[in-house]
Amino acid sequence: MSLSPIVCKFGGTSLADAEQIRKVASIVRANERRRFVVVSAPGKRHKNDQKVTDLLLTCWHLAMQQLDYAQPLQMIRERYNEIARDLDVEPVAGPLEEMEHELRKLAADDQSTLATRDWIASRGEYFHACLVAAFLEATFVPAGECIRFDNEGALDSISYDLLQQHMQSNGLYVIPGFYGRDMRGRIKTFPRGGSDITGAVVARAVQAEVYENWTDVSGLLMADPRVVENPRPIGEVTYRELRELSYMGATVLHEETIFPASQAGIPIYIKNTNAPLEPGTRIVATRDASQPAIVGIAGKVGFTTIYLEKALMNQQRGYGRRVLEVLEAHGISYEHIPSGIDSMSIIVSDEQLGNCEPAVLRELKRTLEPDRIETYPDLALIATVGEGMAHRVGVSGCLFEALRQAQVNVRMISQGASEINIIVGVEASDYERAVRAIYDAFVE
Ligand code: ASP
Repeated sequence: MSLSPIVCKFGGTSLADAEQIRKVASIVRANERRRFVVVSAPGKRHKNDQKVTDLLLTCWHLAMQQLDYAQPLQMIRERYNEIARDLDVEPVAGPLEEMEHELRKLAADDQSTLATRDWIASRGEYFHACLVAAFLEATFVPAGECIRFDNEGALDSISYDLLQQHMQSNGLYVIPGFYGRDMRGRIKTFPRGGSDITGAVVARAVQAEVYENWTDVSGLLMADPRVVENPRPIGEVTYRELRELSYMGATVLHEETIFPASQAGIPIYIKNTNAPLEPGTRIVATRDASQPAIVGIAGKVGFTTIYLEKALMNQQRGYGRRVLEVLEAHGISYEHIPSGIDSMSIIVSDEQLGNCEPAVLRELKRTLEPDRIETYPDLALIATVGEGMAHRVGVSGCLFEALRQAQVNVRMISQGASEINIIVGVEASDYERAVRAIYDAFVE
């Protein structure tokens, strides 16, 4: 019986040039179970560099407007040619020419062009998978034939069977990340950063033992390093904890990555291509939640509270529903609704609220006739996350004591029955001080 395989996805910086690709090759060759390699397009080689996907999208925007795209196109061409030359593999000449041809048609307003936004964006992964497959002497897997989206734009579960059918033998496979095909047969991409999702889908399709996500950091940190100096790395975190942390702003992995892997119970390891021996972060279904109780602290600024007050609100059936209907009609989803007996506060992100605030308030006044309605802008939300806080005495005590000592006023509190996190709302100007205070209280 063959051993369960490992799926490894390498991000853009891990594949930015030939030197990085050689590191990838030695990681893949170090374990014969690493048989499925999912690749991103080449990312930044240094801080001021450009990602290939960004260059591709620039070409598309310019061509759409009949503007000159020769310069970004040349940069893309040089990037791939240089990598092919340094690795001593065939350049991707044909596919590059095809893209140029389609861009020319787009610029000439020729409706027969293949060059939709998504088709152009997907070329970065496509070209790169061709090069990496050649270098690793692996089989290229056509993602467009295997990854399918349904009419709602969600992943179609047929993708799992199609992937399996394309990868039946015992060899090594390279799969371009980030794209598939929609019901009408057109190339469609996941959201930006979506090669992570392809990796998770492949991991589920081949029933991988582990999904390794190789990037340029050694895993997740317990807090944002721009706010907390040298935060500790997270060794192990559950899918649920990670979901909370990434929703609240901690990034490393694309938010949607977790689901295909977690539904199949496949652990995700975040590893560093530049320091492969470092332990990284393991994302698992369950962990011994007693140690540590808190896995991380994440947060975001940019929220507004809409406050409604009405006498005897608690006796009115459907009041809350009607408030939410007004938001829904404006396409706004909410974050939290802490409520009092005769009041409710709806917390929404400024991004969701956009410039709808006056219209939303007018509509709420008209349909709900509140005694008082106000908005409070500049709210920051901070989530302190850890499965270990469930049924444990003193976690919230410790948190609020830390905020008291840091002289931070708490504007909102939310903790659900799952007891996986405590969310506090504070003034945006107190945000960083509050995160540091919570971190110090639990970690240091
Ligand atoms: N290349 C795509 C992007 O830059 C997808 C990815 O790297 O995951 O968003």
